[in-house]
Amino acid sequence: MWESLRTVRVYLWRYRAGLALGLGALVLKDVAGAVQPLVIRAAIDTLSHAFGLARLLRFAGFLVGLAAIKGLFQYWMRVIIIGISRDIEYDLRNDLFRHLVELSPDYYGRVRTGDIMARATNDLNAVRMMLGPGIMYWTETSLTFLLAIVIMVTVDWRLAVLAVLPAPLVSLAVIFFGRAIHARFERIQAMFSDISSRVQENLAGVRMVRAFVQEQAELRHFEKLNRSYIAENIRLVRISGVFQPLLEALIGLTFLAVLWYGGGQVLTHRISLGSFVMFNTYMGILVWPMIALGWVVNLMQRGGASLERINQIFQEKPTIAAPLHPVPLIRVRGEIEFRNASVAYPSGRALDDVSLTIEAGATVAVVGHTGSGKSTLVGLVPRLMDPTAGCVLLDGIDLRDLAPAELRRHIGFVPQETFLFSATIAGNVAFGVESATEAEIRRAAELAGLASDIESFPKGYETMVGERGITLSGGQKQRTAIARAILRNPRILILDDALSSVDTLTEERILEGLAGAMRGRTVILISHRVSTVRQADRIVVLEHGRVVEQGTHADLVSAGGYYADLSQKQMLEEELEAI
Ligand code: ADP
Ligand code: MG
Repeated sequence: MWESLRTVRVYLWRYRAGLALGLGALVLKDVAGAVQPLVIRAAIDTLSHAFGLARLLRFAGFLVGLAAIKGLFQYWMRVIIIGISRDIEYDLRNDLFRHLVELSPDYYGRVRTGDIMARATNDLNAVRMMLGPGIMYWTETSLTFLLAIVIMVTVDWRLAVLAVLPAPLVSLAVIFFGRAIHARFERIQAMFSDISSRVQENLAGVRMVRAFVQEQAELRHFEKLNRSYIAENIRLVRISGVFQPLLEALIGLTFLAVLWYGGGQVLTHRISLGSFVMFNTYMGILVWPMIALGWVVNLMQRGGASLERINQIFQEKPTIAAPLHPVPLIRVRGEIEFRNASVAYPSGRALDDVSLTIEAGATVAVVGHTGSGKSTLVGLVPRLMDPTAGCVLLDGIDLRDLAPAELRRHIGFVPQETFLFSATIAGNVAFGVESATEAEIRRAAELAGLASDIESFPKGYETMVGERGITLSGGQKQRTAIARAILRNPRILILDDALSSVDTLTEERILEGLAGAMRGRTVILISHRVSTVRQADRIVVLEHGRVVEQGTHADLVSAGGYYADLSQKQMLEEELEAI
């Protein structure tokens, strides 16, 4: 339990002043509660010898006063400590999100979104329960025990021993059940992650599910997951269900022992009737902490298990991080050099010892079969990943010596798969450039060949784009992504098959428009259309992650390799279409 707290001590430390105040209220509340039985004893012993209404009222007044004090501090204890647990939850959630934003793309390739969502919601809540109610009741219970036992021992140590007799058994039960609860809860949270992932994937892939008539299959699968989740929960309830009655039974037995032994003590006048009643009152007071103990152990174990799951996220380090002393980028010319760059995925090599220099201001086209490593090659430039061997340089500086954010500011990247946010089109184009004016957004849209499409929408630039851009056609989405890249006014523009969803004519028109805007900038263009790439200063052909041909359109056509083949095929197609 304390190990799990260690990892959140920064947060606890941050709120130390408030926590101290809350714990102060807790102590006062517990002390007021512990004094009550003493007053009861004094009342019984005094009144049974000499009864008087004034005395009775005085004792009654005392008790009411104590109850009021106790209630007041209990209120503050809860407000302060639960409030702090919410503050910590807030901090933790912010830190978690910040961390998630910083993690590199490869992390999201490994981990399911639903799993992350489950940790960020369900587990975070369990941690808050541990830090708020968990810590509060844990301290409260321990202190109540301590006070009651100290007072009982001073009155009659034999009776006190009887009263605490179940303590070792309680500890054993707490340890045993605590472990079991922890293990089961861990499994439950893992299953909840599975369920969340399933839901998330089904929502994201809703069109696929419909198109392949998988609704029933998905339902069945989900039902199965859901059922085992419930079964696992019932297993947890079964064990925590045994735990509480067990504690209560132990308490009951103690009551019995105290009644029997204490009753005898009273009859033989070893202790006063008042002391006996006091003992019984303490026992009564201790019932709640005993029961609470079971609940608190539950909370702490769940919180611990959840914290471990959250810590697993925190322990992930971004594989692509800023160096300690990044080289400042002052004036970027835009020369890119791949120097013996290789990229190996677990599944195999995607780039194999590629050496290639792209001069500042040049337009270089990359062609090749699907899977030949084109996307991998261009992904190295904004450091979506790093080469596993060799290096990539910008103006002669190794990219790993630059701050990634600084580097990316100079790159307009249009990935093969576009992603649009559920915002307006204008908002999507201006993504990342908060200062963009309306005129700038319009110009970018015009250059990307998107303006006339947008103007045909009833709401124009204020049209809401559904999540992932579902309300736009594939070509419109791609052009939105291009407009977004241009708006940044980058030194380097990378188009990864960015016009695959528009027809050849539109593509040519857009590229012509872009040519003016991109003059003097470095452009890397991936496409499978010869008509698109023929204008490039240089064409590079990739095959199995290696550069197999490079040169101008004319060079490559006369070389008679892959590119010449491609060119001939597409020329034939064009001629056939023209007929
Ligand atoms: P292209 O863009 O030319 O179609 P890619 O660069 O996308 O090719 O892929 C090159 C090879 O690397 C392919 O065999 C592909 O399966 C593999 N690959 C690409 N991305 C990943 C990834 N994130 N994890 C593992 N393998 C990958
Ligand atoms: Mg690709």
